[in-house]
Amino acid sequence: MIHTSIFYTIKIETVNGALEPFYICPGIDCKKLFIIRQRFSNKRMDARVKVTFPHLGPVLAYKKMFELFGHEVVMPSPPTQSTLELGVKYSPEFICLPFKVILGSYLEAITRGAELVVTSGGIGACRAGYFGDLSEKILRQLGYNTRVLVFDSFIKEFPEFYRQAREVRNHCSLIRALSILNLTFHLIYALDQYEKKINQLRPYEVVRGASNRKWLEIQKLIGASNSLNELKINIKEAERIISEIAVAPRNDLIQVGLVGEIYMVMESAINQEIENKLADMGVAVTRYRNISHWLKYCIRPNFPILKKADRYLHYELGGHERENIGYMIQYKELGYDGIIHLLPFGCMPELVTQTIIPQLSKDLDIPILSLSLDEQSGWLNNQVRLEAFVDLLKNRRELLSNSN
Ligand code: SF4
Repeated sequence: MIHTSIFYTIKIETVNGALEPFYICPGIDCKKLFIIRQRFSNKRMDARVKVTFPHLGPVLAYKKMFELFGHEVVMPSPPTQSTLELGVKYSPEFICLPFKVILGSYLEAITRGAELVVTSGGIGACRAGYFGDLSEKILRQLGYNTRVLVFDSFIKEFPEFYRQAREVRNHCSLIRALSILNLTFHLIYALDQYEKKINQLRPYEVVRGASNRKWLEIQKLIGASNSLNELKINIKEAERIISEIAVAPRNDLIQVGLVGEIYMVMESAINQEIENKLADMGVAVTRYRNISHWLKYCIRPNFPILKKADRYLHYELGGHERENIGYMIQYKELGYDGIIHLLPFGCMPELVTQTIIPQLSKDLDIPILSLSLDEQSGWLNNQVRLEAFVDLLKNRRELLSNSN
């Protein structure tokens, strides 16, 4: 359908119903032009591809976004031991653990038909900046044609960012694309907030495992929202679901702050569900890191927290090392009993944090446990260290309360 507007501009209804301006010269036959345009639109419709992405954070929100853009989504499964083994097999030996897990999950998704990987980049000494190119190269060597689209800083790499964003947005009009992005941000925020609430309730639950079961229900519910109105309705339902978790008041819980490398801290399948394990030991865990937090401080850094870290580390190394140090100081200020720091073996930014921790722990007078994880280390060793740390925190709290 052609809508004529001013002189040499026509607006054409695209396949998704949006009106897009199309500029023409005088004398051109509009009918022919329309046919050319229709072919062009159909070609763009064929840009529908099977997309996958790393399994990190509120994956159902990313799924919804790609589906609304008209793509088919090959959901990355939560990483398992075989995902890790697959990644380890084809990764450079000394690359950090997140790369190995992510590569393994790309390979799993590719065997299920994924044609395009969409991921984010990184800066500085953090190797995330090389993940995209490196994984694409490895996939090529293995005989796969899968492309890897890396979204880097849209300020520093704007032309590339824009070109890739056009590709992902498929045939959607700009207005529709912005409304899909708006919905995606709301979904990410809602899922992160409910995960936070569930984590807070878990140590108080009467029936072990009830929070985790309700969390699965809530994820499905929120992740199925196709519009902001639907999301609003689903949030009301999620509130009802969460209120069904029976909790009992406790005043013996130990308060621990969790910091570290983003992938290790957020991906429960890789950190051996440390938050669940700590809840079982009578520990209430606070984790500041989630995707909403990352998005919030992507453009405007978290200055108040970075300022706290200045005394120990003044430079950005590319990971979240300065933020982690800043949050460790904040946890102490808020009266936490202890801090757990998670890092993958060989992570340069977090190795720097690890070297600062002994001094930090001494200055702040707070116990800090740093756990380095990799594909070689079994969990048993870490479990023993975790239990010993929790015992230490409990004894310390008792001693401090007796001396007051
Ligand atoms: S923060 Fe560390 S582990 Fe994570 S991607 Fe960067 S270098 Fe690798």
